[in-house]
Amino acid sequence: MKLGILGGGQLGRMLLQAGANYTAETYVLENDPRCPAADFCHHLVVGDIRDRDTVYRFGKMVEALTIEIESVNVDALDDLEKEGLAIYPKPAVIRLIQNKIRQKEFYQTHGIPSPAFVVTQQRSDLAQYHGFLPAVHKLGEGGYDGKGVVVLNQIADLEKAFDQPAVLEKKCAIAQEISLIVGVGQNGEVVVYPPAEMIVNPDLNLLDYQLSPARLAEKTLWVAEAIALKLVRAFQSPGLFAVEMFVDKAGEVWVNETAPRVHNSGHHSIEGNYSSQYDQLWRIMLGYPLGNTAPLLPAAIVNLIGEEGHSGEAVYEGLEQVLKMDKAFVHLYGKKQTKPGPKNGPCHHLVK
Ligand code: ADP
Repeated sequence: MKLGILGGGQLGRMLLQAGANYTAETYVLENDPRCPAADFCHHLVVGDIRDRDTVYRFGKMVEALTIEIESVNVDALDDLEKEGLAIYPKPAVIRLIQNKIRQKEFYQTHGIPSPAFVVTQQRSDLAQYHGFLPAVHKLGEGGYDGKGVVVLNQIADLEKAFDQPAVLEKKCAIAQEISLIVGVGQNGEVVVYPPAEMIVNPDLNLLDYQLSPARLAEKTLWVAEAIALKLVRAFQSPGLFAVEMFVDKAGEVWVNETAPRVHNSGHHSIEGNYSSQYDQLWRIMLGYPLGNTAPLLPAAIVNLIGEEGHSGEAVYEGLEQVLKMDKAFVHLYGKKQTKPGPKNGPCHHLVK
């Protein structure tokens, strides 16, 4: 089968690595010819995943399509789907998730517990919602890695609010942030991975490390699984989904957002689970039986991030020490350049 991936980042790279076990002919569409996925696909097509004609032409080269990032041109995908192309997930789900306002409204309509919210079109709209604070303001479109999110604790913070369409969401007293990956087969069969637990760095407001399985009471786990299953059923689409949730201090579970694709919170499944999230997505797309999601061992992921003060060609220090560790695995994202801060560098998993 000719399979196309929109986006050529580290998720695409890891998906391609798993795909080598099967017989698909792989195509990647990506602007950067030196992207992490470049060396791992059969055909790299250089082009913009946000451009309608480019995505449409790319879709015409393949027999099935998936994404490794949501910011793709969905109009082209709609046309391709109408013309019979298999797309994982369905374009309607990508469109829904691209916009946090639509996404939150979907949760509300489908009875998925998610923090209460109101929609704001511009900053001045927030004046009427003083009683809603403390809250979190999230850009409808264009935010990523926490860049489209501001916490508004008090009225004085309102000047930090976005002046574009956004959701104002009740601030949740978060005890734990978890991610639950779910695979949905072409026949509707569903498999669930044990949740991972994110430990956020309060200074960078970004993921520090991650544990899997998450440390949850059994009842909380059941609730989280039930919510994730209800949600993916509501999407009515085959594919792989990462449902990000909060467990609050009272033990209640709330959906924060969903990624309709393989996810950074599932890297550990490469060594840590019988069938990795990447293997699972191949099984889904190729119409094979779904894989076993059970963990082989508990796992942790530590992200290697670009060092403060260093920009330029990526240099890796300390690999010797890490690779000497028993049951530790390194996955370099293959980004050629590094910048200070997160996600520019590689990632390593420790399977304990
Ligand atoms: P992004 O899509 O940029 O990752 P998120 O919606 O996941 O943005 O928000 C980033 C972080 O902000 C979350 O991981 C969480 O720590 C915090 N956050 C988001 N929404 C809420 C909320 N309703 N209450 C409390 N904290 C929140």
